[in-house]
Amino acid sequence: MKTMSYKALYRTYRPVDFTEVAGQKHITTTLKNALKNNKVAHAYLFSGPRGTGKTTIAKILAKAVNCVNSPVDNPCNKCVNCLGIQDGSINDVIEIDAASNNGVDEIREIRDKVRYLPGYVKYKVYIIDEVHMLSTGAFNALLKTLEEPPAHVIFILCTTEPQKIPLTIHSRCQRFDFKAITPAEITAKLHEIIETEHIQIEDEAVDQIALYAEGGLRDALGLLDQAYSYSPNFIKVDDVNQICGALSLKSQMDIVGAILKMNASEAISLMDELMVAGKEAQKICQNLIQFFRDILVYKNVGFNDSTPKLYQNENFSTLAKTISNRRIFFYLDILNKAANDIKWSNNPRLYLELALIKMTDEEPESDAKIWKNFSDLESRIQKMEQAPVVEKIVEKVVEKPKEVKAQVEKPVFVEPKKSVQEEPNILDNIEDETKPDVSFEPEPTLFEEVNEPAIIQTPIKGQKSPNLDVSFDSVSAKISKTITPIKTTSLTNTYNIEFVEEVLNNGNRDDKNYLINHWYQLVRSNPTGVNEQYASLFQSGELKASSFDKVIVVFDNPATCNRLMKPSVKLIMKSVIKNAFDREIEYMALPTDVFQTISDEFAYLWRQGKRDIKLSPIVSTDLRDVSQESEDSTAKTESKIVTDALNIFGDLVRVKKQ
Ligand SMILES: [Zn+2]
Repeated sequence: MKTMSYKALYRTYRPVDFTEVAGQKHITTTLKNALKNNKVAHAYLFSGPRGTGKTTIAKILAKAVNCVNSPVDNPCNKCVNCLGIQDGSINDVIEIDAASNNGVDEIREIRDKVRYLPGYVKYKVYIIDEVHMLSTGAFNALLKTLEEPPAHVIFILCTTEPQKIPLTIHSRCQRFDFKAITPAEITAKLHEIIETEHIQIEDEAVDQIALYAEGGLRDALGLLDQAYSYSPNFIKVDDVNQICGALSLKSQMDIVGAILKMNASEAISLMDELMVAGKEAQKICQNLIQFFRDILVYKNVGFNDSTPKLYQNENFSTLAKTISNRRIFFYLDILNKAANDIKWSNNPRLYLELALIKMTDEEPESDAKIWKNFSDLESRIQKMEQAPVVEKIVEKVVEKPKEVKAQVEKPVFVEPKKSVQEEPNILDNIEDETKPDVSFEPEPTLFEEVNEPAIIQTPIKGQKSPNLDVSFDSVSAKISKTITPIKTTSLTNTYNIEFVEEVLNNGNRDDKNYLINHWYQLVRSNPTGVNEQYASLFQSGELKASSFDKVIVVFDNPATCNRLMKPSVKLIMKSVIKNAFDREIEYMALPTDVFQTISDEFAYLWRQGKRDIKLSPIVSTDLRDVSQESEDSTAKTESKIVTDALNIFGDLVRVKKQ
């Protein structure tokens, strides 16, 4: 019967010398040099993924050191020693599977026998596979032997998990790291065997086997064996997929297509079909991860030697072009989480289903981003509309009324072609006492290059205008016809632009840097209680400008600003700041985007040569007038205590909580 005499391919085609080994050139070359020069070590540690040739190379090494013709860099495989070791009749080469011989006794036995000279050949070679499985006791016993190995003994320790091996063992071995064999190398090896064995198989099937083997040649040969028994006449790619319980490329593309179309029900019904056909949720999930990873690699690297031929078709490249990297990362995140959940779940289907729904859902993060950008834009527009009103009212007396309408329609500041934020480094290097401490401040020479935008000319104060008799009412009436006024008065109590103007106009870089460098002291100096709470909230902000006794701190979340600007919180913060910097500093908390708008305006005016700059009022839909609000009751009580204490003891009070 054929099956009785049948020998597994991986046994038949196990390399017998270094030249037959697939991949691992870095290892075979080093070993051959050592053999040639008689520099073979007494202990080796071979680590690497399964099926990458660790024990195979160990066995070749064992033959080479013992070959009758030694020193040779490759066993002859013809002499009695080579043949005897190959067929196992020479028992001086001992293979031990630590997974089944993990006891101290077995290793002790090795230790005892190690002393005896080999019976037939020059070296006793112990090949210990899966050495990480040894018990601690066994490791200790092994270590004793490794400390003083007899000259006639060579240990070759093989492991897939080198990190589980004690360092004391590592340090006594020469270590070789085996690499996963590339799909191209596996494919090449498979084709050799297919030719010799006259196996009928389509090329895509070979590629698919190489892909599933995940770097292990032994697995690849095992799969080829299985596929051959499954379909002895002609192996097709579907046969291979069938055997692996994996998705065919087509069904992967179908599911991915449904995901890209945001069609959850189609994706789930495709998943159902696969599961009915016997695919496991875990496998489907892993396949999808692999598939998206492959798309990512293709998108960023293109096809190379290791790209399976399977992918080298138009459908794949078209698909790859339609997905952005960011989107793939988004999918991979979801699938990785699902794969992890599936591993520990009794209901893996549920997690795969959830993952598919998540992937076909709109991305919540990007939505949030769009909304944020939208509201930023909105507040900028409002600000632009708002600004002319304010300036116009100031200027009304000196302007000709007929010009007003035209000017009103122009924005008060328009960022010229040059983006100032691109040049912060230039500024930091300039030592200019007269410059405000605003990090966006550009170099003076750059000003000339900047195109002048259409801007309302602010007349010099006190300058007489021929049309002084223009009444305020007639001008403002004209203005109110052209633009819709926005309520901003409610904000000025809390978010007073004069505060910002003062800080920006009197900015002090040294002080700002000092505070930034000591920002951590906020929490450190307020280690407990309510102070700590507010200190860490405040510390999460970024100091943007400082004028010694006033600072502007920005936060991403406007709600944080509203909270920090409440009078009751300011009171607590007073002692928090005092504890940290030993001085009183007033602050304004502003949302990052609001401050950005303000600093753009300031930078623009500064570049116009203006000083003692006046800015447009703060406009934001997210900010509130909190000048009359107090913090929640707990904080209120605490702040009441603080207030009382401050009233009684003044600055001597340090607020600490048990
Ligand atoms: Zn030989």
